Amino acid sequence: MPLLPSFESALTLSNDRLCLDFCNTVSNHASAAPREHLETYAHLVAWAERGGLLPPAAAARLLAATARDPAAAEAVRRRALELREAIYRLLLAASGGAPAPALEPQGSPCEPNLALLNAALRSALAHARLEPNGEALALRWDLAATDALDSLLWPVAYSAADLLASPDQLARVGQCQDDRGCGWLFLDLTKNHSRRWCAMGDCGNRAKARRHYQRQKSAI
Ligand SMILES: [Zn+2]
Repeated sequence: MPLLPSFESALTLSNDRLCLDFCNTVSNHASAAPREHLETYAHLVAWAERGGLLPPAAAARLLAATARDPAAAEAVRRRALELREAIYRLLLAASGGAPAPALEPQGSPCEPNLALLNAALRSALAHARLEPNGEALALRWDLAATDALDSLLWPVAYSAADLLASPDQLARVGQCQDDRGCGWLFLDLTKNHSRRWCAMGDCGNRAKARRHYQRQKSAI
């Protein structure tokens, strides 16, 4: 299925943390006019496939299930947006970031953020298992063989819970300081916690160009 251009251009997977990438499926997330990129359930599937969550065959199976029951797929997409905004608010609150603007998806009941994430976590953990991985164990999800439309949210909910319950990692969650309200989240792995931008090639460059322009202007 062809993706919308807005989705293609906005789909940056940082690999910092799955839940952070999920929060970043909105542009201008910290502004009064965020731009949604998960406009259809197919976008959600494409995001999960591109991020390596879903094997292509599993993505195709979910899309086939969508065709059979588009209303159910749309309901899952709405739940996904609610979950995303709950995670975004919890991460911002826990990491000391700026308060998030009100972004409740239209037409959905406003559940408290933690209750919403806990419900998603309970549902997710029923599909998790530990498997031998070399000499260690690895957490795996039953994604390859399921046609549950919400299966791609299981690892997302777990990722958020894991990050929120890890104080050391949580202290490294940062938010892009772009003045247009980019709002994307990242994990600041610099030694002195000095990361300011989601991507140096995007918001960072823009800020650099603006400072350069202001210096030139003040020199005239
Ligand atoms: Zn940014």
